Amino acid sequence: MDQLFAPWRIEWIKRDEKNSDVDGCVFCAFPEREDDRENLLVARSDHAFVLLNNYPYSPGHVMVIPRAHTGEYADLTDDQLLDHARLKQRTFEAAETALEPDGFNAGLNLGEGAGGSIGDHLHTHIVPRWQGDTNFMPVIGDSSVIVQALEETYDQLHEAFAAQEGATVPGAGRAVVFE
Ligand SMILES: [Zn+2]
Repeated sequence: MDQLFAPWRIEWIKRDEKNSDVDGCVFCAFPEREDDRENLLVARSDHAFVLLNNYPYSPGHVMVIPRAHTGEYADLTDDQLLDHARLKQRTFEAAETALEPDGFNAGLNLGEGAGGSIGDHLHTHIVPRWQGDTNFMPVIGDSSVIVQALEETYDQLHEAFAAQEGATVPGAGRAVVFE
């Protein structure tokens, strides 16, 4: 059972000094910034965005995050729910195209008992899985290699999102936008 639940215990962590200056909620701060690629923010819609996990369980481990700052699923409006679901759908499609996994784990941590570390802002983990895979981070180890792997995965996912219907890319280093 440990393996089944392991992906949900791996949360977003501060990658470098620059991010340690975020007061309050990182999931509220990141969409406001200019440099999406540096922040690993790969796609955004009206009410949600997709962020690569800094500590991926597997390559392509992302979080689909509603823009609304709440930890209560019941707080999301119909528009926010639909937009979040639609962005999850796009994320599965982009990951399938870019990474060709054998399957996915996907889910939310709700409440303190569920093991999430950023409990006050909802986020859905999407974890691509391959037959016989093991936790990617212990396999890689070296942090400079991890950053490089994250950037490569970012570019692969970005290209796949950008090829989807309704996608626009506002500029270099910017996330794919869905209107
Ligand atoms: Zn927040």
